[in-house]
Amino acid sequence: MNIVDRFIKYARIDTQSDESSTQTPSTQKQFNLAKEVEKEALEMGLTDVSLDNNCYLMATLPANTQKQVPVLGFISHFDTSPDMSGENVNPRIVKEYDGKNIVLNEARNIVLSPDDFPELLHHVGEDLIVTDGTTLLGADDKAGIAEIMTAMQYLMDHPEIEHGKIRIGFTPDEEIGRGADKFDVAKFGAEWAYTMDGSEIGELEYENFNAASAKIEIQGRNVHPGYAKNKMINALHIANEVIALLPGNDRPEHTEGYEGFFHLIALNGTVDEAKISFIIRDHDKGKFEARKLLMEKSVAALNEKYDNRITLELKDQYYNMREKVEPAKHVIDYAFRAMEEVGVKPNIKPIRGGTDGARLSFMGLPCPNIFAGGLNFHGRYEFLPIPSLKKASEVIVKIAELVAKEA
Ligand SMILES: [Zn+2]
Repeated sequence: MNIVDRFIKYARIDTQSDESSTQTPSTQKQFNLAKEVEKEALEMGLTDVSLDNNCYLMATLPANTQKQVPVLGFISHFDTSPDMSGENVNPRIVKEYDGKNIVLNEARNIVLSPDDFPELLHHVGEDLIVTDGTTLLGADDKAGIAEIMTAMQYLMDHPEIEHGKIRIGFTPDEEIGRGADKFDVAKFGAEWAYTMDGSEIGELEYENFNAASAKIEIQGRNVHPGYAKNKMINALHIANEVIALLPGNDRPEHTEGYEGFFHLIALNGTVDEAKISFIIRDHDKGKFEARKLLMEKSVAALNEKYDNRITLELKDQYYNMREKVEPAKHVIDYAFRAMEEVGVKPNIKPIRGGTDGARLSFMGLPCPNIFAGGLNFHGRYEFLPIPSLKKASEVIVKIAELVAKEA
């Protein structure tokens, strides 16, 4: 099966995950794709094919060389984002994109336009896979699955390419932040791995945010406003003071690249009580710690002023994988060189978020992220240039080849 047909087959299977579920997988329908991929893996002749009760699928492409080659892994995820429907996905191929508007849905006047998404213009002349405007496409991350499966098929069909043992792994629930939760790193047994879960062709990512959440609760004192002098303590005004003590420029809407932030995500309250939620993000560990300290100091100062009416709960969420990946620099170098050798210009950039690879890196499996090729993830304007899809699969083959060659 060619990679495009394979991707489209996966894209048609609804695998949306659900944040409100406490089960793993969060939705049973993710098994529909998992079973399909399991079947393909068996038909292809991969070994150790195992799909567990939590919907984690692993398989092995055995080594075809006597050399001692490190075991490599490639990972992607089954689920699609809860942000947009993944039901009845109806992919369509736009041949040789002409640089103009693409009408996704005539009846509903939904148009994919380079005015809104200038990245489209990087792909003029290419064949693009787009949606019908009513769902997401699910290239995040079914492109990754198609790339990995196609690369395994290619290596099986080309025994002249020497490679070591390769492990592949597919997880549920990445989009709701739980993809690494039940990933059995020991069972996977790779020395290092790559998630095929980035976006634009060339992307290679091994730096992500350090992340924490902060929950603040303020107890006010409510009395009749007509008789409130020297008695009322308004929790909402204290909430304002907390917010005002944090630097106003360090917000998502004012930052990019390596700039961190405090992001106010919720503010609820009455005179009597108020709750504030922030997330704190920074690539730099020192600055990350300093941000948490600033929050603690701000709350402490206001507790002094208002007689201990404020509680703060800080929780670390995930850390920058750079400290785990950089000591194993060859992990990045192989991906970098593999891209160059298949004619892709590597583009190393920091992730302004987290990845499952970051969590796996801290679980003992260094795991940078490589492009899967799709753009505009999580929405109806998602699209996948076919040349990017093919190149990502070639990168996988080339990494396997380079690692074996230099072992
Ligand atoms: Zn993804």
